[in-house]
Amino acid sequence: MNIEQILKDNNVLKTGHFLLSSGLHSAKYFEKFRILENPLLVQMFGKMIAEYFKDKNISIVCGPTTGGVIIAYEVARQMGLKCIFAEQKPDTAGRVIRRGFVIPEGANILVVDDVLTTGGSIKDTMQALKQFPGQVKGIAVLIDRSIELTDFNQYVQDVDFNSCYRVAVENYEPDQCPLCRQNIPLEKPGRGGKK
Ligand SMILES: [Zn+2]
Repeated sequence: MNIEQILKDNNVLKTGHFLLSSGLHSAKYFEKFRILENPLLVQMFGKMIAEYFKDKNISIVCGPTTGGVIIAYEVARQMGLKCIFAEQKPDTAGRVIRRGFVIPEGANILVVDDVLTTGGSIKDTMQALKQFPGQVKGIAVLIDRSIELTDFNQYVQDVDFNSCYRVAVENYEPDQCPLCRQNIPLEKPGRGGKK
């Protein structure tokens, strides 16, 4: 299965000159909502993650809102497990697990997210999980676009990491962007495709 081709065919992977939400510029952009809006694609990627973790004794799946939950829910469905989610805190940074979710004592938790750039939402999710029993044993993402492989073992010991697709994408400060120097028009994705 050629994942890169699937991502291109579904307008997930775009090439050009993009302004990221972080303020940095990049020659590649992943429009994750082209996956999240498509149950068949979510099912396909969910299966890759579910298969990878099927023999790893996972007992519950947790995803950060918004996109992470959709993938996490599908993975949980395929593994016959429950799915809980970590929401953004209303006024401050970080995430919180509310809604009366219960994690059993000794549970092995699988954290699932959509796109990994710096790992911020995954780290915030693991931080939120610390107030519950159980331990994060696995982390899975659809797309890992981080420059350096994130060492999640810094945060949790013996954690197993899996991605459906990995590509290291260079990000540029606007004043050092080679694409700006070539006068390539800057696109602002994620806002209805308007430039
Ligand atoms: Zn630029």
